[in-house]
Amino acid sequence: MARSVTILGAGLVGSLLAVLLRKRGYEVTVYERRPDMRKASMSAGKSINLAMSARGWKALDMAGLRKDIEELAIPMPGRYMHQPDGTGVFQPYGKNNEAIYSVSRGELNKKLMTLAEQVGATIHFGQRCNRVDVPNNRVYMEDADGKETIIDADLLFGSDGAFSALRNGYQFLDRANLTQHYIEHGYKELCIPPDENGNLRMEKNALHIWPRKNFMLIALPNTDGTFTCTLFLPFEGDISFEKLKTEADVTAFFKEHFPDAVPMMPTLIEDFFANPTSSLVTIRISPWHYKDKSALIGDAAHAIVPFYGQGMNAGFEDCTILASLIDKHGDDWATILNQYDQKRKPNGDAVLELALMNFIEMRDKVAEPAFLERKKIEKELGKRYPEKFVSVYEMVSFTHTPYNTAWSCIKAQDKLLGNIMSEGDFFANVNDTAFCSKLDNWMLQYHEEVKQLDFGHEA
Ligand SMILES: Cc1cc2nc3c(=O)[nH]c(=O)nc-3n(C[C@H](O)[C@H](O)[C@H](O)COP(=O)(O)OP(=O)(O)OC[C@H]3O[C@@H](n4cnc5c(N)ncnc54)[C@H](O)[C@@H]3O)c2cc1C
Repeated sequence: MARSVTILGAGLVGSLLAVLLRKRGYEVTVYERRPDMRKASMSAGKSINLAMSARGWKALDMAGLRKDIEELAIPMPGRYMHQPDGTGVFQPYGKNNEAIYSVSRGELNKKLMTLAEQVGATIHFGQRCNRVDVPNNRVYMEDADGKETIIDADLLFGSDGAFSALRNGYQFLDRANLTQHYIEHGYKELCIPPDENGNLRMEKNALHIWPRKNFMLIALPNTDGTFTCTLFLPFEGDISFEKLKTEADVTAFFKEHFPDAVPMMPTLIEDFFANPTSSLVTIRISPWHYKDKSALIGDAAHAIVPFYGQGMNAGFEDCTILASLIDKHGDDWATILNQYDQKRKPNGDAVLELALMNFIEMRDKVAEPAFLERKKIEKELGKRYPEKFVSVYEMVSFTHTPYNTAWSCIKAQDKLLGNIMSEGDFFANVNDTAFCSKLDNWMLQYHEEVKQLDFGHEA
């Protein structure tokens, strides 16, 4: 008989996991700390969005939710960079107009919860897990009135986010390793509402970005005509949140650094002082599972900074990998959880590093001419050598290539592009036969350096 599953957290990953496990015949009960967001009003009606890419879509395909979410998703085939002088430039992400998609976090979570219930999962809301006794799979829950219950779980998953109670239990296991690091930057959500006629105030199909070296503002479109903006700024220092104490400070800061955004943000001051300044944490843990009894998944296993737009996508990919391992190994949960840990942990570590690296790219490098030139060359290489070359960004966002393969390609791609760019203007050089034969050689070298890596799907 299939084991019964207890899931902690009905966020994006926990709700999706509930769907996938129910569809494989498991009895599923989910415990969620918060009240049911389908009943309570979410964040005072504000739209918060996420960028969904290939790995996320694959999971929604598995759940049968792609069509529903596609209706709510706004394609962003590139970033629109806002320069300090108020001018802008569009940079496509892929070579074939591939896009990442702006999706409402709340709507996606609600749909996943509803689907989980429709396929037979039970979700208990207002139930916080305080502690897990990992060796005994014993879960200590508390409801909104402070009443405690103890659950003896059969098979347990911790999808309870970056501050997971199950992960807290894992850190007391023998040989458990845990690292936690807060970056020096925090973030604050702001808003660009529609104009007087209800229209979007900027290009709809783009991820907008105001890169300013050590800080940046980004904005993603919503279907209600608003943009959700996020300001990433150090907590302390010369240019930092601690320096923005008064309305005058905030106005002067935005006028100086984001002059074109200010007229589009009529509620800037109100939003700035009403919305919290939140911190950004990176957490690694090992192991990700305990025997055939429990495992971590999503942010609980790999809390990462949001700069590659991959946190949810990675968590959803955890679910698809786990589902394919169940399909392969049936009810042999000792093997399933062991292989899940072995396959996913290196990828969790890699996406964590990729996300940290992309912060520097987004806030700083995207404004550099050499970086823009490199991006153009990468696209051209992808067209000329489709079998041999895919840029790291495209691997991460538009393919299912394991994250650690993408991470391992960085050095070889840096060398390849370094060689190419050291010869001057690539788009002029490619008309020269001598350069083209050098290029073929560099591509061969690149291919040799990366060919032993796993480019296929993991499971
Ligand atoms: C500013 C920002 C922007 C982001 N942008 C993107 C993006 O563009 N693309 C992308 O892919 N990712 C993005 N992410 C990351 C993404 O939000 C997370 O990776 C994703 O939400 C992880 O899902 P999860 O279900 O694992 O965790 P969570 O979404 O945190 O859900 C955890 C759930 O568990 C519940 N819970 C917590 N503790 C307990 C407990 N003790 N007991 C019971 N229930 C509990 C919580 O209430 C919650 O419902 C972003 C993150 C941030 C902060």
